Amino acid sequence: MTLAKDMIGGGRPMRPCSGLGIGCGQVDDHPRHVIDTGTDEDVQFHLDCHAAAGCASCAEQIASRPKNATGQKLLDHLLEQAPTVSQHDDTPQED
Ligand SMILES: [Zn+2]
Ligand SMILES: [Zn+2]
Repeated sequence: MTLAKDMIGGGRPMRPCSGLGIGCGQVDDHPRHVIDTGTDEDVQFHLDCHAAAGCASCAEQIASRPKNATGQKLLDHLLEQAPTVSQHDDTPQED
């Protein structure tokens, strides 16, 4: 388990990027795609990790991000692109 050095902060939850055999395993508070697994434990992936695993939604979200933007920069970008990003980031949803 690796802790990121560039926390966004502001009360955002710390979560691992892991599960379903994908994800990088890093624990941080960066933007996530939350997947409802139908169990008590949802899994969350960085948008870029999930896009790499074939998620069209995440691929679309990061398609126009500044080069290699992560963490706060990616969050800023997402908020600019879609004011409803919080639904994507923190709301469990079918995938
Ligand atoms: Zn990741
Ligand atoms: Zn995704």
